[in-house]
Amino acid sequence: MVDMDKIVSLSKRRGFIFQSSEIYGGTGSCWDYGPLGVELKSNVKRAWWRDSVQSRFDMVGLDSSILMHPRVWQASGHLDHFSDPMVDCRACKKRFRSDKIEETEWVHYCEATKGNKFIVPAGEPCKHCGAKRTLCPACGKGELTEPRQFNLMFKTFMGPVEEDAAVAYLRPETAQGIFVNFDNVLQSMRMKLPFGIAQIGKSFRNEITPGNFTFRSREFEQMEIEFFVMPGTDEEWHQKWLDERFAWYPKYGMRKENLRLREHEKDELAHYAKRTADIEYLFPMGWSELEGVANRTDFDLRQHAQFSGKALEYFDEESKRQVVPYVIEPSAGADRATLAFLVDAYREEEVKGEKRVVLNFHPELAPIKIAVLPLLKKNDRIVETAKKIMSDLRKRWHAVYDDTASIGRLYRRQDEVGTPFCVTVDVQTVGDDQSPADGKVTIRDRDTMGQVRVSVDNLEAVMADLMAGQWNSRKIDASPPFRSMPTNRQP
Ligand SMILES: [Zn+2]
Ligand SMILES: [Zn+2]
Repeated sequence: MVDMDKIVSLSKRRGFIFQSSEIYGGTGSCWDYGPLGVELKSNVKRAWWRDSVQSRFDMVGLDSSILMHPRVWQASGHLDHFSDPMVDCRACKKRFRSDKIEETEWVHYCEATKGNKFIVPAGEPCKHCGAKRTLCPACGKGELTEPRQFNLMFKTFMGPVEEDAAVAYLRPETAQGIFVNFDNVLQSMRMKLPFGIAQIGKSFRNEITPGNFTFRSREFEQMEIEFFVMPGTDEEWHQKWLDERFAWYPKYGMRKENLRLREHEKDELAHYAKRTADIEYLFPMGWSELEGVANRTDFDLRQHAQFSGKALEYFDEESKRQVVPYVIEPSAGADRATLAFLVDAYREEEVKGEKRVVLNFHPELAPIKIAVLPLLKKNDRIVETAKKIMSDLRKRWHAVYDDTASIGRLYRRQDEVGTPFCVTVDVQTVGDDQSPADGKVTIRDRDTMGQVRVSVDNLEAVMADLMAGQWNSRKIDASPPFRSMPTNRQP
C-alpha cells in the first residue's frame, strides 16, 4: 500500500490536488483540484451520475441549493444533534472537545518545583505535586470555559443585517434538499414507488479534526441517492442497494480486496437510522468509510411534514391509502471516491532497471485519455501530422500533445498521470526522401507497454474499442503481442 505522502506529493507535482490558498500558508483542510484532478473527479461524478440516474428507469436527478430555510435543520435534527461538546481556553483561545480532553498530554507549571514546566502524560496527575489537570492542556495557564455544544454546521447570515432572524446554514448534507422536494418531484415527474432522487453537490461541516488529505475536509462534495420504497420492502431494498453500490467501485477498476462492508453497531447508528452499513476502502491510514448505505425509515419525510405542515405522502393505488415511504440512502463522497481511485491506481514497477510510476486508471476515469507524441519534434511533417491527429481525437476524447522531451520520458510522464494510450507519429508515418509514407501510427498501451501499428484512418475506431476494453484484431494490420484489455488490471 502506497503511503499518503507519496500521493500528496504526486498530486501537487502533476496537477491533481493543491492545498487551498497555498501562497498564504494554506487554509485548514481545504483543497483545490488542479487541471488533472478536476478531470479525474468530473469523470468519477459522471460515471456515478450515468450509472445511478441516466441508466435507470426508477431514478431522477436534482440540484438543490446549498442555503435552505433554517427550519429544515430543526426538522432534520441537525440543530440539536449535529454537535460536539467543546471548551475554550480563555488565555490561548485553543478549543478542545471536552469529552476527549483527558486523552491528550498536558502542560503543567509545577509549584512544587519552582514553577518548572512539565509535559504530563494523558490522564495522569503530576508526579511531583500530585495535581490533576484543571487548566488548558496546551498552554498550561489559561482557565477553560464551561462545555458548550459546538454545532458542526457553518452558520452565515442571509441579507444585509446580521441578526438572528436571518441566520442560515451551509448544508451539512445534500439529502435534505431531496426530502423537501419529495412532493415536487413526485407530482411533476409522476413517479411511482419505488423510485429514487439523486444529487451531487457540495456540503460543509466544521470538523474539529479534519485530515488525511482530502479524506476529511470542511468543504466536500457528496453523491447521494434517496430511494423511496413501500414500508415493509425497505430491508430488501437496503440489501439490494448495498450489493449494487459495493459492485460499483470494482466496475471502474478498484481492487476488490481493498473494499469491505462494515455494519454499524446499534449504539453507532444515527438517530434516524434503522440499519447502516459502510462500504470501506483500505486507505493508506487504514480501513475508512467510502460510502454509507443507510435505512433512514420514514423519519425525514415525517419530520418535514410535521415542521412544514405539508403532507409528504404517496397514494398507493393498490391499497387505496396514503403511505409515508421509507427511504434507503446510499451516500458517497465524490472526494473520497476520487482519492480512493487515485490511491488504488498507484503502482511502482521496475522496468529495465528503472523505476516506473504508473496510475492505471480505468479509461473512463483517466484525466487524459490519449497523448499524441511526435518521435522527432524537429520534423515539421511529423509535428503537423501529430497535431492534426490530436485535434481529430479531441472531438471525442480528452487528448493532449506533448513534444517537450524524448519519447521515453514522454511515455513515463503519461504513465505517471494515468493516460491509458499514447499515439506516436514517426518518420514512417509521414515518409521521407528514401521511403513513402505508410500512414500508420504506433499505439502504446500504458499497462503492458505493448505497441501496435494502426493506420491513421482506422485510429478512431480502434481507440473506441480500446477505451471500451474490447479488442478487434481485424482493425489491426500487424499483430505483435499487444495485450491491451485496459479493464483487466495487472496485479
Ligand atoms: Zn491555553
Ligand atoms: Zn506538579
